Amino acid sequence: MEERVRIAQIDRPFPATCTRTVRLKVRPGSASWLRAASIEVNQVWNWANELSAKAARPYAGSPKWLSGFDLCNLSAGGTEFMDHIGADTIQRVCTEYALKRKVAKRAILRWRVSREPKRSLGWVPFKAASLRRKGHALRFCGKSFRVFDREYLADRKFRDGCFAQDAIGDWYLCIPVQMRVESSVALGESVGIDLGLKSIATTSNGDTLDAGRWTNAYADTLARAQRHGHRKQAKRLHRKAARCRADALHKFSRKMVNQYQNIVIGDVSSLKLVKTRMAKSVLDSGWGMLKTQLQYKGQQAGRSVQVVSERDSTRACSSCGALTGPKGLDGLVVRQWVCGACGDAHDRDVNAARNILAGSRCGPPSAGTSPRSRPIAPSSASRARKARTDRVRAAA
Ligand SMILES: [Zn+2]
Repeated sequence: MEERVRIAQIDRPFPATCTRTVRLKVRPGSASWLRAASIEVNQVWNWANELSAKAARPYAGSPKWLSGFDLCNLSAGGTEFMDHIGADTIQRVCTEYALKRKVAKRAILRWRVSREPKRSLGWVPFKAASLRRKGHALRFCGKSFRVFDREYLADRKFRDGCFAQDAIGDWYLCIPVQMRVESSVALGESVGIDLGLKSIATTSNGDTLDAGRWTNAYADTLARAQRHGHRKQAKRLHRKAARCRADALHKFSRKMVNQYQNIVIGDVSSLKLVKTRMAKSVLDSGWGMLKTQLQYKGQQAGRSVQVVSERDSTRACSSCGALTGPKGLDGLVVRQWVCGACGDAHDRDVNAARNILAGSRCGPPSAGTSPRSRPIAPSSASRARKARTDRVRAAA
């Protein structure tokens, strides 16, 4: 089995290039031009929104929706009314609108608002051909732009991208570029990663990424700024926390991808947990971001990244497979436990990570294919459960 897995990985063609979206900050000199252009983009969007809803209103039969192609045709000549944006931007807005409407399955989407207080964040899409290099600057719609870190764009092919604004009002150039990647071989064989709240990620080898509590770190300053009505400062603090979180996750995922050939993660769902009292910690942990980073970095380096079910990964003992571990909300306080069936001592998260690794196709053969596949004699299981309950009670 293991042999076959290894052969399959070698046979898979490795892509020589990959597409990465780079996000470069635009120098502040162009902000007012971009702001004006984004207002025109909003007008096009709202025009498409209204037209598409009107066209679909059925006089008889089922509604027929305008496609991106139809909207582009109908927008012909629209540039006469625009001072900043050109036909390519109008067409990008139309195609994007049709796609978003189809995905949202709604008759009408939210209007884009150009004025305070509920202004939509600025967005100016463009086609690859309309952005050109000119010396140190970039030319778009007859206007020169300068960006920070422009060396990321040197000698690289662009694809369709956009200028996007963040909550504070800074503009960024977001553009997918082709990059060369080289396959490498990691020293470590496989690793299982358990996602949690006490430490965001724990590996089966005992490495941890401690929860930074980034939201909490700025909570007091944030509360003060909000009390005093300093909205811009509050937004800056939110951005700071988000950047600290992204930085820690990037460092951890890079370390994992550099060290291990096979990476296995549990399929924990943050969408369910944000509805509980743990919501703030769940949102602060960034599980989704970590998963995405592991997946794309793994793909670029030629690693296998699997997502497996983490059912019973905390309860099952990684040595013998008996369901003797802590469970339920009350069991959350138990960080260390001893298996009642085989007597092995476990760290809660490391044990879960080992079970996740064992549940994948690259797990160690000695641990079995799945924690649940092992038959457990009813007597030993119930005895173990009782012993554990007694132990927890004695500890409390
Ligand atoms: Zn055991």
